[in-house]
Amino acid sequence: MCGIIMVYRRPNEKYPRNWNRLRFVIFKRDHYMCQICGIKCDSETLSRRPNCHHIIPISKGGSHSWDNLTTLCDRCHRIMHGII
Ligand SMILES: [Zn+2]
Ligand SMILES: [Zn+2]
Repeated sequence: MCGIIMVYRRPNEKYPRNWNRLRFVIFKRDHYMCQICGIKCDSETLSRRPNCHHIIPISKGGSHSWDNLTTLCDRCHRIMHGII
């Protein structure tokens, strides 16, 4: 058996251990409001689901600190990532 353990992670998967708690802190701070379009993201339905977005992407050296995190709705979040 090969004994090498590959630790392979893409940079954007380096989330902190408390990420789940942290994102809710950010949502609360932003009052569950999308910081781009202003809709309230307080539901689990897809279009109203809050997203915790990194203003400076982790892959570009951004951090998980409060001032680098913002609340976005699903739509704006996709736009920010160029998915639409
Ligand atoms: Zn939005
Ligand atoms: Zn994002």
